[in-house]
Order: sequence, then C-alpha cells, then structure tokens
Amino acid sequence: MVPLSEAKINIATHGFLYGTAVFGGMRAYWNEEKKRLFVFRPYDHFKRLLNSGRMMAMTIPHDEEGLIQLTLDLLRMDNWQCDVYLRPTIYKADMGIGVRLHDLKDEFCMFVLAFEKYVKNDTNAHVTVSSWRRIDDNVIPARGKVSGAYANSALIKTDANRAGFDEAIVLDNHGHVSEGSAMNLFMVRDGVLVTPPITDNILEGITRRSIIEIARRELGLEVVERSIDRTEVFIAEEMFMTGTAAQVVAITKVDHRPVGIGAMGPITTQLRALFNDIVRAKNPKYSNWNVEVR
Ligand code: PMP
Repeated sequence: MVPLSEAKINIATHGFLYGTAVFGGMRAYWNEEKKRLFVFRPYDHFKRLLNSGRMMAMTIPHDEEGLIQLTLDLLRMDNWQCDVYLRPTIYKADMGIGVRLHDLKDEFCMFVLAFEKYVKNDTNAHVTVSSWRRIDDNVIPARGKVSGAYANSALIKTDANRAGFDEAIVLDNHGHVSEGSAMNLFMVRDGVLVTPPITDNILEGITRRSIIEIARRELGLEVVERSIDRTEVFIAEEMFMTGTAAQVVAITKVDHRPVGIGAMGPITTQLRALFNDIVRAKNPKYSNWNVEVR
C-alpha cells in the first residue's frame, strides 16, 4: 500500500493503451450512530470483477474473500470516517505494442476516495434518449465492467450533459432500452416494477439486484425483468436509475415529457429511503449485505 500519488503505471502499459482492464465500483458508508464504516456487498462486487476478468482472459491470485480482506486493510489504514468509493481494477500490465489478451500478465490495484453524490438532480433528473447505442454483447460485453467499453458511456454522458440533460437512456442495437451511462433503469407501469433483463446488454448491477429484492420483500411489489420499448418510457408512472455511484436517482422528465405527475413518485421515494438505510447498516434484516470495517 502506497499513497495514491505514488501509485503509478507506465504510459506504455497495455491496459492504458488498449483499454484491456476490468474494474469495479464499490462504496463504503459511514454510520454516524455506530461510528463505523460498512462496505456494501463487497462479495458480489468482487465476484463480478473476477467474472469480468474471466471474460477478458485475466487471472489474479486472489478470490472474493481475499479481496475483501485487502479492502478492509485499505480502509483501516487511513481510518476513513465518511462515505467512500473504492475502485478495484485488474489490468493487462505488460508494456508495449500488440493488441491481444493472451500471453500478458495481469495485475490488481485498488484505490479509495471520499465520495458523495454522483448525479446532482437525484430527485428530479431530466434524461434524454441517447442517439448512441449501447455496446452489444458480441462487441464488448456490457455485463462486465471493461475499461475500454466506458468510451461508449463517456460519449453518452457528455452529449446528454451538453444538451442540457442530467443523464441518458441508452437503447441497444435491437432498439430496446438497456440502461443509462453508468446506471441501470427501472420503470413503474400499472403498479408493476419493470427493468430490462440481463440479456438486453446491461451491466448486471448490484444496486439493481438489491432494489429488486427490496421491492419484493419490503413493498410486496411485482417485479418483472423484460425488454422495454422506447416509447414505454413516455407513459411510465415512475422511473428511476440505480448504481453504486448514482444510488437511486428519480427520473421526472424524459425528453421534455413529464414522467407520471412530473415529480418523484411514491414507489421511488420509498425505495430510496429503504436503500439509504440498508447501505448504512441501519436495517438489521439486510445486515448480511454490510461488511463492517473494524
Ligand atoms: N450500468 C453501468 C454501465 C455501470 O457502469 C454501472 C455502475 N457500476 C451500473 C449499471 C450500476 O451497477 P452497480 O449497481 O453494480 O453499481
């Protein structure tokens, strides 16, 4: 472990030249009453990271449990007492020219930063339908977090922001709604919570999975994973996006059309409140999702 300013790679590193890296994005939340930091679902984050690595022909000498121990060591070291974001990465670490995945060595690194909000208007986001398409599973797998694939997300985000929107809804190559630039999407139609299936070119989000479980268990909602057509987003009663960085972001307008009543709806409001308590280890029913830093 070294200070962040000393954690450097060479400019000829394969992962930097070709985007041949996979990463995770994880949060640890400060619980003020307990005066403790809790990492949210680190096992699931590291499982997805190792799976992303598998898709990109990467192996590292750590399993999920080993990576959790490294995370706890890192967080203990600086005695963090605020919400933080962790960015583990596995990358092709050789130097030099030659685009491929094989016969290259893999390295693991991780850093931690203090972190608060990711989307400013998280109770009333105005989104557009992006003119960019989501990367296809046969181009670069969206189900993994591949660094090079985030050029797609960057194009989506910048064009949305420059056009005055907070975020964008991205369609896949079949014209179905996939997700946002770095978050999954949910809508409420006729009281049913609907989200695209993992086979529609989405990242298999851990917040998505958590929200599905919370909606079923706590609100007794019917949750359906099915393809969503473009125009359904104009007639949904409620809509929101989920992600580790974004958390739960209410969408109240799509391309200048109000979603439902044009304000954050009751299901989104309840799920946001439940999620905020659960990530901070304030709901004992979900304590198996909170790993305490001690
Ligand atoms: N989709 C994309 C493209 C993302 O980058 C993210 C952020 N990791 C998400 C969805 C949300 O996933 P998670 O809830 O696991 O952070």
